[in-house]
Amino acid sequence: MINPLRGMKDLIFEDSQKFVHIVTTAIKIAKNYGYTYIETPILEETALFKRSVGESSDIVGKEMYQFIDKGANDVCMRPEGTAGIVRAFISNKLDRQDATHRFYYYGPMFRYERPQKGRLRSFHQFGCESFAEASVYEDFTIISMVSDIFDALGIRYNLEINSLGDNACMPDYKEKLIAFLESKKESLCSDCNRRIVTNPVRVLDCKNESCKTILKDAPKLIDNLCDSCRDDLDRLCQLLSEHKITYTINTNLVRGLDYYTKSAFEFVSTEVGAQSAIAGGGRYDKLVEFLGGKSTPAIGFALGIERIMDLVELPEQKREGLYLGTLDTTALPLLLQIAKEKRAVQKVYVEYEQKSLKSHLKSADKLGYLKACIIGENELKDKTVWVKDLQSKEEQHISLDVF
Ligand SMILES: [Zn+2]
Ligand SMILES: [Zn+2]
Repeated sequence: MINPLRGMKDLIFEDSQKFVHIVTTAIKIAKNYGYTYIETPILEETALFKRSVGESSDIVGKEMYQFIDKGANDVCMRPEGTAGIVRAFISNKLDRQDATHRFYYYGPMFRYERPQKGRLRSFHQFGCESFAEASVYEDFTIISMVSDIFDALGIRYNLEINSLGDNACMPDYKEKLIAFLESKKESLCSDCNRRIVTNPVRVLDCKNESCKTILKDAPKLIDNLCDSCRDDLDRLCQLLSEHKITYTINTNLVRGLDYYTKSAFEFVSTEVGAQSAIAGGGRYDKLVEFLGGKSTPAIGFALGIERIMDLVELPEQKREGLYLGTLDTTALPLLLQIAKEKRAVQKVYVEYEQKSLKSHLKSADKLGYLKACIIGENELKDKTVWVKDLQSKEEQHISLDVF
């Protein structure tokens, strides 16, 4: 027997229903916000992720499904969605147009990490990316879209936001932060020490308790923002309040990825014991240029479908569709003809086996159909069908011409 690979999972039955429910809900809302679908390859050049996600990140440093293909190309299964979409944005020369572009996507992502609860090696994300709109109103709108998706799915959350600054304020802040970190070097963990050099801002994200205590006194970017970043953050807070989207400012929210600027946000589930991010995103105004395109502001988010599957309840299943059965197999061709017509407008099940009426009704009920339509010898003769509504329990003979 061949099983799925470690950390990979089949989605079937309730899991796959939840998957479809989450994705269709998110798609409907994204479309209402003016987003169109984009599909990009799962396999990309490794260099794309090295450049965009950043060599210092755990994703690129430790977790990539990277290999050399038969044409000697260094390739990688995408560990996240944004890089491929920004690559597509540039490859399709959309950065040369003077227009906004808004895309939604969903699909599998791959990270070679230690499998544990809520953390698979093959997992799914739904996400949106908005290009060429620098206004903070777009930041508000995209956060509002994520909150609409969670509201529609009946999932409660806390929204955390932060500003990651821009070229005007980040470099000065970084210097201050590095000076602080250097002074505490001895007391910080080895991960932190490595990051002081590779990605000092990520140190703020350390989960180590003793590091956390020390980092409480670290200079905060929020106190060092330039006027433009400060104004945008204030406006974002004001818009969220006006629209009754509650939030907290988390100054340690730095995201795992290197290309974020200004607004960063995370939706954290309030329904699980341990705090767990169910969606995250933010502005990444530097990435398009960084990947060789024309400088274009952009913002996006991704939500983790498996994490949401653990929280979401499926909407109540309503009885629907038509069950077709026969007491006499000579009626089968007629059943198939009826099925073909009825499938144009509803779900239809055809039982090929001759069974008793009681046994047919039992199957129709178990499969969740609304109506059972049974044809026996008499019905064949009269050119009628016998129909039972399994909800109202009403039974009737209907002429084939009008059925
Ligand atoms: Zn640490
Ligand atoms: Zn700034």
